[in-house]
Formats: sequence, structure tokens, C-alpha cells
Amino acid sequence: MGRVIIIGAGGVATVAAIKVAKNADVFTDVMIASRTLAKCDAIVASIAEKVGAERAKNFQTAQVDADNTPELVRLFEGFKPDLVMNLALPYQDLTIMDACLEYGCSYLDTANYEPKDEAHFEYSWQWAYRERFEKAGLTAILGCGFDPGVTSIFTAYAAKHHFDEIQYLDIVDCNAGNHHKAFATNFNPEINIREITQKGLYYEDGKWVETEPLEIHKTLTYPNVGPKESYLLHHEELESLVLNFPTIRRGRFWMTFGQEYLTHLRVIQDIGMASIKPINYEGKEIVPLQFLKAVLPNPQELGSNYDGETSIGCRIRGLKGGKEETYYVYNNCSHQAAYEETGMQGVSYTTGVPACIGARLFMQGLWKKAGVYNVEEFDPDPFMEELNKQGLPWHEIFGGDLEL
Ligand code: NDP
Repeated sequence: MGRVIIIGAGGVATVAAIKVAKNADVFTDVMIASRTLAKCDAIVASIAEKVGAERAKNFQTAQVDADNTPELVRLFEGFKPDLVMNLALPYQDLTIMDACLEYGCSYLDTANYEPKDEAHFEYSWQWAYRERFEKAGLTAILGCGFDPGVTSIFTAYAAKHHFDEIQYLDIVDCNAGNHHKAFATNFNPEINIREITQKGLYYEDGKWVETEPLEIHKTLTYPNVGPKESYLLHHEELESLVLNFPTIRRGRFWMTFGQEYLTHLRVIQDIGMASIKPINYEGKEIVPLQFLKAVLPNPQELGSNYDGETSIGCRIRGLKGGKEETYYVYNNCSHQAAYEETGMQGVSYTTGVPACIGARLFMQGLWKKAGVYNVEEFDPDPFMEELNKQGLPWHEIFGGDLEL
């Protein structure tokens, strides 16, 4: 039915590519393009092994610098994609969106734009493309991973089916896995550490409230996992959710961290290794956080020894028929099951699978409209149906104690 280019060849791209390979009814021809060609070829080899040699023949690879729009346009002109899945880093969002507009194809990503020299993320940069995508008759789907992504779709599904008015939204993200390393991040270390060391932010009564990093925390109980200390973070999906669901009075995001992880993080910050300011080291300019990334375990290699599971969902309180209701919708994902299917751990899996589903719905014409949209602006129903079919089944609890 359609041609797709996947940009990036990390953990998330690997999972998405394997899932795209399994959805042969909609993705006919696929290109994987990234900075390092060998990594793209390795993904195709893994598709040949896990999905089949015949199907792998529909996959091409290419080297590309996604910071360079003209280079991207040339690549697109050669391959003629209907959709580009940006699974590189948030730094490349704008150059890839520019290339999509110039060539004339649609766009999907899993993380909002961040400038390299400023640990700051918000949607304004990408929302500024609305008119151009609309005029070109192209679709841009923003934030189609798990969070943002599935959590935003869970919220849209709750608003559509279970509430007249969502008033309180708490997104709860627990990784109860163990990779048996003293310290490692589950996705790109640079992006991950920038996110966690930022000030916290939540939305209440029409205003954004800032907190010190990891200042607010609470023990929350996760299904099949138990109690875990959970920390309030600034997370990008809240920015669009409070606009798209204006009845929300308070929106917060919580993520679990173990003491060991937090101690390492504090030391990393105290000794200056989390800094993104370039320094001169023996005549060469280096960024401490990028150097740290080079010595930390590669998130893609955590999978083989990773046990336990993730549990991510939305705890919602609001009104239905004039009565107060509570609702908890969540997915638990086993790191080992993810590894057996794709060779990657659960965090890459829970991001790559939704990206594939979003691309599938675009190809089927179900999530196709001219303009730039966050995922909650599309119909959540076909997405929720696909989650159950593609490896991320979800569960609902009605009327329980939300603890929040
Ligand atoms: P990785 O660092 O493993 O992969 C990123 C890939 O992008 C690498 O293959 C890298 O190349 C490639 N890349 C980086 N810069 C360029 C460039 N200029 N040109 C071409 N290719 C480039 O990251 P992950 O797979 O862990 O994460 C991918 C994305 O998913 C990130 O944006 C991350 O923020 C997002 N994410 C979203 C989540 C969600 O739930 N919404 C959760 C987790 C991640 P090379 O291999 O050569 O380094």
C-alpha cells in the first residue's frame, strides 16, 4: 500500500523496523537510513532472521545526515516515500520536517524538537509548521511513541468513551525492570539525562507550576509490580493534552527511579558530567554529556540480561453523567518478551511498536489529515485495537483508588 523511510537505526528504530516488516499488508517498500550505514544493514539482517529473507528483500538501506535538509531531500527524491518515520533524535525533527515539505511526503515522530545547545523541549517549534503542512496537503503526526504517544491516546480514548469531563490526569510511568548494570539509561543517554535533570513542571488551574528537579515524589502501586517511588517530571505530552482536553484542571507526569539510579545521577551532575556546555579538552571541543554517553552502556545492548517489566498508564478522575468516576488504563510490557521478539528491551519496544501503528493507520488513511497533529487529535479507537494485536495489550480498572 505504501512506501516508508525510517530515519535512525537505534533501539526504537530497530523495533519499529521489525514491526513494519511484520505489517507487510500496508508497508510495501521500506528504506532504513541513518548516520551509520552498518547499523541499518544490521537491522535488515535481523529482519531476515526474525521475519524472513523474502520480506527483507523489500528493505533498502542508506547513509544520511539528518541534520542536513538538502541531503534528506535527495534521499527522498530517490526513494519516493509516502511517509517518513523520524526515529533519530529530537534534534533532527525540524530538518526532517523541512525535507518532507520540500519533497512532498508526510511525517511521524516520537519526541518533540529540542535544540542541541539548550535542554529545553516544547511543541511551539513544530506547531509553527501547521500552516505549511496544511497547504501542502501533508500529515505530520507528532509524539507517536509510548509517552508521548500511547499515554496521549489512552487519554483521548478515556475522553471519548468514559468521561464527559476529564478533570485530573496523572500519567504514571514505571520501569520495574533490572538490567543488572550499576547505571544505564533505557534510551539515548543524552536525551534521557537532559530530561530527568530538568526542573519539574505540572499543570494546575490554568497555570504551569515549576518544581525543583525530582522535588515532588510519592509511592505509587503499579499492577503486577507493587509499590515504587515515583517522581514528578516535566513531560512533553502534557503540553498538548491540556490544550486538547481543556476540562483538565490538573495534569501531572510521574516516573519511577530506584535509589541506586538517583545516587549515580546526583554524582554525574555534581562532577559536571551532565553538562551540555562544550569544554576544551586537550585541544578538542567536547560536550561532557556526549562524552558520558560514549562510556555508558549502550541501551540497545541491555536487552539480553533484562528482566522484569514496564507498567505505563493514565490515572484519570472526572465526571460522567454528573457523577465522579475514576479510571486507570495501562499496559505492562515484559523486557524479556520484547527481547525475544525484537532483540531489544522493553523501553525501545514500547516506543517502536506505537510508531509502527501510527504509520500503519496513516497508510490505511485512518490517520491522515492535512496539518500538524499530536496523536490525541486522531481517532483513538483503531489505535487501541492495534495495540492489542501488535504486542502492547492494555487493561482497564474502573472505580479504583488512584492514590493521587
Ligand atoms: P538511539 O540513540 O539508540 O538512536 C538514535 C539513532 O539516530 C541512531 O541510530 C543515530 O545514529 C541516529 N542519528 C542521530 N543523529 C543522526 C543524524 N544527524 N543523522 C542520521 N542519523 C542520526 O535512540 P533511541 O532509539 O533510544 O531513541 C530514538 C528516539 O525515540 C529519540 O528521539 C528518543 O527521544 C525517542 N524516544 C521516545 C519515547 C517515547 O515514548 N515517546 C521513549 C524512548 C525514546 P548512530 O547509530 O550513528 O549514533
